[in-house]
Amino acid sequence: MTAAIDFETDVLIVGSGPTGATAALALATCGVRVHLASKWNWLASTPRAHITNTRAVEVLRDLGVEAEARKHATPWEWMGETLWTTSFAGPEIARLRTWGTGEERVGDYLQQSPCPMLDIPQTFMEPVLVHEAALRGASIAMNTEYLSHEQDADGVTVALRDRLSGREYAVRAKYLVGADGARSKIVEDIGLELEGHVARAGTHYTLFKADLSRYVAHRPSILYWIVTPDASFGEIGQGLLRAIRPWNQWIAGWGFDKDAGEPQYTEEELVRRIRILIGDDSVPIEIESRMVWYVNQQYATTYSKGRVFCGGDAVHRHPPSSGLGSNTCIQDAFNLAWKLAYVVKGWAGPALLASYSLERAPVGRQVVLRANQSRLDYAPLNRAFRDLDAPNPVEAGLAKLADPGPDGVARRAALAEALQLKNTEFNALGTETNQRCVSGAVIPDADGGDEVWARDPGLHAQATTRPGAKLPHVWLVGSDGRRISTLDVVGRGLFTLVTGLAGRAWVDAAQALGEPGLRTVVIGATGALDAYYAWHRVREIDEAGALLVRPDGVVAWRHAGALGDAAAAQALLSRALARVLDRG
Ligand SMILES: Cc1cc2nc3c(=O)[nH]c(=O)nc-3n(C[C@H](O)[C@H](O)[C@H](O)COP(=O)(O)OP(=O)(O)OC[C@H]3O[C@@H](n4cnc5c(N)ncnc54)[C@H](O)[C@@H]3O)c2cc1C
Repeated sequence: MTAAIDFETDVLIVGSGPTGATAALALATCGVRVHLASKWNWLASTPRAHITNTRAVEVLRDLGVEAEARKHATPWEWMGETLWTTSFAGPEIARLRTWGTGEERVGDYLQQSPCPMLDIPQTFMEPVLVHEAALRGASIAMNTEYLSHEQDADGVTVALRDRLSGREYAVRAKYLVGADGARSKIVEDIGLELEGHVARAGTHYTLFKADLSRYVAHRPSILYWIVTPDASFGEIGQGLLRAIRPWNQWIAGWGFDKDAGEPQYTEEELVRRIRILIGDDSVPIEIESRMVWYVNQQYATTYSKGRVFCGGDAVHRHPPSSGLGSNTCIQDAFNLAWKLAYVVKGWAGPALLASYSLERAPVGRQVVLRANQSRLDYAPLNRAFRDLDAPNPVEAGLAKLADPGPDGVARRAALAEALQLKNTEFNALGTETNQRCVSGAVIPDADGGDEVWARDPGLHAQATTRPGAKLPHVWLVGSDGRRISTLDVVGRGLFTLVTGLAGRAWVDAAQALGEPGLRTVVIGATGALDAYYAWHRVREIDEAGALLVRPDGVVAWRHAGALGDAAAAQALLSRALARVLDRG
């Protein structure tokens, strides 16, 4: 590397997508010097990821941008009337209440998080994150391309190119974060092993403007599946109308045969196809842009090498089914940022950073497999919608669905079952929230044993204070009488020791330790009143016990019972912190 070093920073992030932007915001919030470099002139120019699940919104809440994101988002209650229809104007076939908005599931979703889901296209999400990161001190360099890096024992020297002037220069950082997306050069440069394959199917998306309120405002949803022979290619085998801005900006999507090459539609052909999905030739349509994307099924088995850490699509590449894309990116970044901050500040030893890959790589693998399975799970629906032996399979299949005879009865039973299966994509609260961290940054219970799942862990969230799980949400009452979440009294870049009114020994112990990155919270005391006695029901430890909660809301360690004196508590707490934070 020949270029002179222009400046130094603590963390250099490459990429301003959901991963890089969240990492920059979280690091800047922690007061770490962070520089974000991104190749293009500005942030996402197409809507791409949009479904933001409760856990990702909790991250936004912790980072103080939940309210701003909500301003730009389609609200939860409008997200969920997912339906299958012959066209917007044509006869409907079936509906599923999705994203927890149906009566059967709404309580589950509300119970496990203070943050309802939201739907925010990437074009709106990225500016929220980057704006706030910059306000909190991150420096942002657009039109700046990562070229290469070299790492040594003390840091990483990164070669960048200013794409406006062509000037090449170097930045010296303590750590490099590769958030450079699915074609990551950084993953390639550090030689991370990837499993799976890319581009196993192709999808064509068209972004367009059209006021479709009259077809959807009374049955609001962000996803409408169109069962028509004109958009029936591939695994999903259905056309898609996805609401971007309700109800006048949309994406129309359908699969294409990738072996035949990328389709080249004229504007007239696109309008014709979109009108088939809408079922109304009179609606004015303005085509904005078009794109193709490929279905990937690939994940890295480890996420880091030395001082270089990769996250997001760089290390997990999968289709949008199940809506796990940017959600997983945001959570990767949140997991990594506090660890980098603690090490940079000298509050933790460097081995803490090894926990990032150990904790997130299994999640990435699971997400990749789940998203791809969700595509395969359209097959039973398509079997119910079609009669493959007939000259016009869709027409014949839909006729059979309306048949009063035994064939129709069997067909409708098959459709009911096929819809139930889609709950694993569309009401999968467990998949979204039951992640458990296993690494040196978590101390399992001495007598732990394996977690026993009370219900299907893919569908249902399981609240627990077991080390490795996210702190359960319940409502408390704050000092001004308003409800606050248990998640509101932890996080914000610090460890939290959580105890009850009977846990005086822990409070004294924490005070005596004087640990800079640790706060203490007494649930039950003024400011965190357990007025509903809800914490009492979920804490799984005695009132005089204690939980050590990491800055990312994950329980690092717990002590179930009372301790007689502060000295004993201090010894235990100090040992737990030393172990979790790699302080020998
Ligand atoms: C067409 C399409 C539709 C999608 N739809 C959905 C959806 O509906 N739901 C969903 O959850 N997900 C969807 N996704 C996936 C979602 O967009 C990704 O999961 C998410 O954007 C990944 O975020 P990221 O930050 O890891 O990477 P990206 O958002 O890809 O960002 C990569 C960043 O790295 C920068 N970069 C790359 N190389 C360099 C370099 N050499 N130097 C400097 N900067 C560099 C880029 O400028 C960019 O800022 C879709 C993706 C596509 C392409």
